[in-house]
Amino acid sequence: ERCVVAVDGPSGSGKSTVSRRLASRLGGVYLDTGAMYRSITWAVLRSGVDPQDADAVAKVAAETELEIGTDPLAPHFRADGMDVDAEIRGPEVTAHVSAVAAVPAVRKQLVDQQRAIIAAAGHIVVEGRDIGSVVAPDATLKVYLTASAAARAQRRSAEVAADVDATAADLARRDQLDSTRAASPLKQAGDAVELDTTGMSIDEVVTALHDLLKT
Ligand code: C5P
Repeated sequence: ERCVVAVDGPSGSGKSTVSRRLASRLGGVYLDTGAMYRSITWAVLRSGVDPQDADAVAKVAAETELEIGTDPLAPHFRADGMDVDAEIRGPEVTAHVSAVAAVPAVRKQLVDQQRAIIAAAGHIVVEGRDIGSVVAPDATLKVYLTASAAARAQRRSAEVAADVDATAADLARRDQLDSTRAASPLKQAGDAVELDTTGMSIDEVVTALHDLLKT
């Protein structure tokens, strides 16, 4: 029987690497929902629209054609035909993505797309903030990954080759934005398995999740 795995948690919790490896191990696909919000943010910035202008942001989102790669070995994204893999990880997109992701029409559009991708997939691992609670409440397995603030900043700064203190400050700022606004996306599903990955290797986390699926 096919399985849908929902992996939620704050950034730097190890979600991306773990989700990709788990998807590969299952012979399934991988959906990075953060990359979808980042790609829309890239389109908003390119269009010159103010990321705080919710109506204008919603309009750009509706007009942007996303190509969403779900191969766990090469999850490439394109927006309006352009390769955005590098730019969606850059500081400009990162600085504005929380504002764009707070626009209800953007969330509705992307959640609908996410549900369609999940419905069409075999085994799939979906990572984000609201997967177990909103996008896929019927997932086979829901996990909520956490890690200490120091471990998260360490991992994230290694990923983007940035200064660890600046990264820690940026993560704290985004956590605050992602968890305090009215329509907060970061919600732990009541039935999610919480796993603190501080001090665990990637392989240990992947194996722990794989074991949870088998039981
Ligand atoms: O996971 P990642 O750091 O790439 O996510 C970027 C941003 O996208 C988050 O800080 C959050 O504002 C938003 N996001 C969201 N809902 C998701 C995934 C990401 O609001 N399911």
